Amino acid sequence: MSHFNANDPQNKSWIDIPSDSDFSIQNIPFGVIKKPDGQVVVASRIGDKVIDIASLFDLGYLSSLPFSKEDFHATSLNRMMKKGKAACSTLRNRIAELFNEKNNELKNNSGDQEKILLNSSACENLMPVEIGDYTDFYSSIEHATNVGTMFRDPNNALLPNWKYIPVGYHGRASSIILSGEPIHRPKGQQKPKDDEPPVFGPCKLLDFELEMAFITYDGKPLGESISTSEAEDYIFGMVLFNDWSARDIQKWEYVPLGPFLAKNFASSISAWIVTLDALEPFRVAGPEQDPKVFPYLEYSGNKNIDIHLEVYIQPEGSDESLVCSSNYKYMYWNQNQQLAHHTINGCNINAGDMYASGTISGKEKSSYGSMLELSWKGTQAVKLNDGSERKFIQDGDTVIMKGFSKKDGVRVGFGEVSSKVLPAK
Ligand code: MN
Repeated sequence: MSHFNANDPQNKSWIDIPSDSDFSIQNIPFGVIKKPDGQVVVASRIGDKVIDIASLFDLGYLSSLPFSKEDFHATSLNRMMKKGKAACSTLRNRIAELFNEKNNELKNNSGDQEKILLNSSACENLMPVEIGDYTDFYSSIEHATNVGTMFRDPNNALLPNWKYIPVGYHGRASSIILSGEPIHRPKGQQKPKDDEPPVFGPCKLLDFELEMAFITYDGKPLGESISTSEAEDYIFGMVLFNDWSARDIQKWEYVPLGPFLAKNFASSISAWIVTLDALEPFRVAGPEQDPKVFPYLEYSGNKNIDIHLEVYIQPEGSDESLVCSSNYKYMYWNQNQQLAHHTINGCNINAGDMYASGTISGKEKSSYGSMLELSWKGTQAVKLNDGSERKFIQDGDTVIMKGFSKKDGVRVGFGEVSSKVLPAK
């Protein structure tokens, strides 16, 4: 077993890694790729190179680890994740060790390097996990306050349950798509005027939601719960998450059972899952929770994570414009609390399940994580670099989200999630 520490800020690689790369030697994320020869394998990423983990295994570099060939010659990470936290943590440490400048095992074997290292531009990223279930939370107090202020009452913006319950709903896993895949503008019922009947047609108020999602390992049997202190043993890693939203469809349909067709036409994720292990050095304290939470939601230690987030809109044929800078550390309810709440009734979880944070807004206007908030319900236009204006997302626009953590000269990032909006079918 390797006792190497992949998180050591002193680690350097024998691979050339651009200093602004999200995929430093301290990251070692996991994904699934199609190689130039058509093979689909489990992979990692370092700088501009993809690491073929299946070949690493086949060539004997992972022989002391509790994995088998089928775990890496696979079309998803689920089989690997079923080995659990301890095994996957050791795997990441071992890969970091092999690419460390002081380790000669692979460094001195150019024949093996040719089989294991691929140019990222020559590989196609595939969906990294088979997502069985998907849950979307609503855990940013700034976002919930903004929405409550716009649609209900500025003096009672938060509903009475919000500070007691990490509010969420069960979403749809089938329409979660990978970065790079375009979406079509959804169609549906809307009710633009209060005193007139509803209309049917393409959504006019198409929006993004800046979110992050975590992915779990297998949990406990039905009927048991995961505590806030156990939560990290069940969380594999995180991705950037664009929870596409049709605001006009949402407004008409959401009473009384909540989000439905306004949310389930597509959500886009970034391709590389950054492990919770790699994010540990970037932990920070969360906001104070007042009123005091129920005991099952209490936690100790720093459970928020400092992840800088950006959203860009790129109109057809133009450069991208930054429209939002936010941070995952703003979350009122942290992941540990979300998972503890999700399982407190005995609900079971499985390897590959995905849990999105809810729109991540900060206090400043420039940190609002949706066009709904940035344009304040369509009353204020957002200016783009090419001189055009947006209140919501137009056909031909590409929405790009980026995210990274940085501390002590170490950068651990997510790359991006990028999706273009095509006209309604
Ligand atoms: Mn959402």
